[in-house]
Amino acid sequence: MDTKHIKYLINLEDIIIKKIKIKGGWVNTHSHLDRAYTLTNKNFRYSYYPLKKKWYLVDEMKRLATEEDIYIRMEKALKYFIYQGTQAICTFIDVDEVIEDRSLKAAERLKKNYNKYIKICFANQVLKGVLNKKSKYWFEKAIDFVDIIGGLPAKDNYKKNEHIDVLLRTAKKMDKIVHVHVDQFNNNKEIETEILAKKTIEYGMEGKVVAIHSISLASHKKDYRYNVYKLMKKAELMVISCPIAWIDHIRNENLVPSHNSITPIDEMIPEGIIVALGTDNICDIYKPFSNGNLWIELRFLLESCHYYNINNLVNIASINGLKVLGL
Ligand SMILES: [Zn+2]
Repeated sequence: MDTKHIKYLINLEDIIIKKIKIKGGWVNTHSHLDRAYTLTNKNFRYSYYPLKKKWYLVDEMKRLATEEDIYIRMEKALKYFIYQGTQAICTFIDVDEVIEDRSLKAAERLKKNYNKYIKICFANQVLKGVLNKKSKYWFEKAIDFVDIIGGLPAKDNYKKNEHIDVLLRTAKKMDKIVHVHVDQFNNNKEIETEILAKKTIEYGMEGKVVAIHSISLASHKKDYRYNVYKLMKKAELMVISCPIAWIDHIRNENLVPSHNSITPIDEMIPEGIIVALGTDNICDIYKPFSNGNLWIELRFLLESCHYYNINNLVNIASINGLKVLGL
């Protein structure tokens, strides 16, 4: 047997990281740097609470945070991403009646000080929704500054469509792209990715809308999943997967197709959907053990989706991220 053409693939991590470097470096498309490193010995116990409770449990920390506190946290996290060779990052920042504009001001300073080292995009987190009077006020206050309009339809539960209408109407008017947290609960009652794709087409926003997470899709039946992929393709809806953020979903007794609680990228990519990578929360009550290591995130993604296409993984971690951020 002729063995001289056999190449041993001993360190796939090195191979992938070298290829990412050639593409300009990592792109972290989803994070919440203004809440990074807010874990304390007092709030650590909140980590066990359900997600919807955490949306309120962060209020205490947010109320007490000064602009300087927020700046220091964001800077610390940003330096870690620069150290890893990250070319671009998107972070959501809370802008609402609790934190008011303090994250916004810290973000402005961060952009001024670090823009020459890393491309930073900001999106507004709408933890209080966008429909009531107060939340609308802060939503409008944020949109001039942010590069990307952020959404969380589950926060305006029972009025998810109206929430998405506000996002898309505003984005269209302002000519901005939209990143929306959808299908986060690993539950086959959720159909937010489908709604978002339909709304994207309705508003003529094809190619300008990004679904963050879309975990629940994996818990639906195959026919439904593939119909949604077709719809996503038609809407040019892109998707961000934050693997570690969701792999911890606790077990339940719902009988659904066997799956990992993760964006089903192994099915989406062959259907022509653009997939990118994000770290989501770092060292806070949402994800106390997450540290923002991008290689660990990519490794989780490839393992939990059984997805080994090296060139596509490299694109997920780099150039697809640029597309998702509109860069
Ligand atoms: Zn998020």
